[in-house]
Amino acid sequence: MGHVDHGKTTLLDKLRKTSVADGEAGGITQSIGAFEVEVSNGRTITFLDTPGHAAFSSMRQRGANLTDIVVLVVAADDGVMEQTMESINMASNAKVPIIVAINKCDVRNAKPADVLVELTEIGLQAEELGGDIQTVQISAKNGTGLNDLVDCISAQADVLELRTDRSSNVEGVIIESHMHKYLGSVASAVIQHGTLKKGAYLVAGTSSAKVKQICDGNGNMVKQASASMPVDIIGWKSLPPSGEILLQVPNEARAKAVVNWRKKLIQDQKSDDDLIQITKHREEAKKVVTEAKEKYKYQIVKRKRASLDGTSKLIEKDPSIPELNIMLKADVDGSLGAVKDLLNTYNCHDECQLQVISEQVGEVSESDIELASTLNGIIVCYNVSPSKEIKALAEESDVSLLTFDVIYHLFNAVVDVIIEKLPEVL
Ligand code: GDP
Repeated sequence: MGHVDHGKTTLLDKLRKTSVADGEAGGITQSIGAFEVEVSNGRTITFLDTPGHAAFSSMRQRGANLTDIVVLVVAADDGVMEQTMESINMASNAKVPIIVAINKCDVRNAKPADVLVELTEIGLQAEELGGDIQTVQISAKNGTGLNDLVDCISAQADVLELRTDRSSNVEGVIIESHMHKYLGSVASAVIQHGTLKKGAYLVAGTSSAKVKQICDGNGNMVKQASASMPVDIIGWKSLPPSGEILLQVPNEARAKAVVNWRKKLIQDQKSDDDLIQITKHREEAKKVVTEAKEKYKYQIVKRKRASLDGTSKLIEKDPSIPELNIMLKADVDGSLGAVKDLLNTYNCHDECQLQVISEQVGEVSESDIELASTLNGIIVCYNVSPSKEIKALAEESDVSLLTFDVIYHLFNAVVDVIIEKLPEVL
């Protein structure tokens, strides 16, 4: 991480190039946004080049700590800048230790000692100044100091005692995902625990996969991937979002159950948000109702008079208060409740009585249309999309079929129907 132009890309490129044999360099895919560098004793370090600030924050929001160590790049000729500060805050909020790479030490006006002082001023005290922050002077351009940097990372990993269990269920973090022309949904991820194999069932957020193929950071197909390996995973049913935690589940049924449960959680959350909207629009709704009543006061008075002298045929036919029969359809219980609650706030008293004649979760059926037609009602759908056939049947049967996915649009439309209905019954 670090301020723009301080040399992050150059450093990563240099590290990436030194990490592969010359002949392979051309074949490297950069889609994964992460790559491994082999260090001594068969150890590897995985560098991530995607956690731009947004991705890093989204990972934190989901509770995923993808990075074990942050390398903070500070240009020796520019010093601590705005994004340097932001990066430090993000790393310390995520409780990730920092190693400072003082870059561009090759330039003539490089002042690495000044950078150390500036860092101390903002609370990062270098080891050479008696603190506990490792700093390395490098030139990403020339490649000097990069071995020292890798050694520092290695030493920090020892201090952190980073361990993984290769035999456990797979755990990891999605770095990014994209749609591939031939392969379908592809997710780049870093595996943190366990060993990922072809055929494994995975979930990440509300996406699931049966792993069809695994590719390593060089774009080569591999049979399995273990901890800290960046991989492309093929076989997702939908694209899992960046920063989402990746988990292995035992079978397809379990994957389905987890995804459905998570979807429901999100839906419930959405219903809660709707309730907030309802409260917000309640006052507004009252205003509309009052205005409507005011607008039709004259006719209402007329209706009452007519009723008294018995001159209105309509009223003779149906002397009761006009009613608006509503059949509610919603996708889940939560939203059904939300819509009902909203409609309950609408009380027209004498002028028009709202009558919720049925309330159901699910699609609109033929019998719903029949019932609405018999009772002269309207069907109001929330987060439900009736099929073409049903829409046609409703039109044929002269039944209003109103569909919404924003709750206050629904409310406004119902108010419109009432307003239309009031003069009609007079
Ligand atoms: P980023 O925005 O942090 O990714 O910075 P870049 O890697 O794009 O570097 C910005 C500029 O600084 C580019 O022109 C690089 O060539 C240059 N640069 C990066 N590292 C060094 C270095 O160590 N020495 C010198 N002299 N220039 C560097």
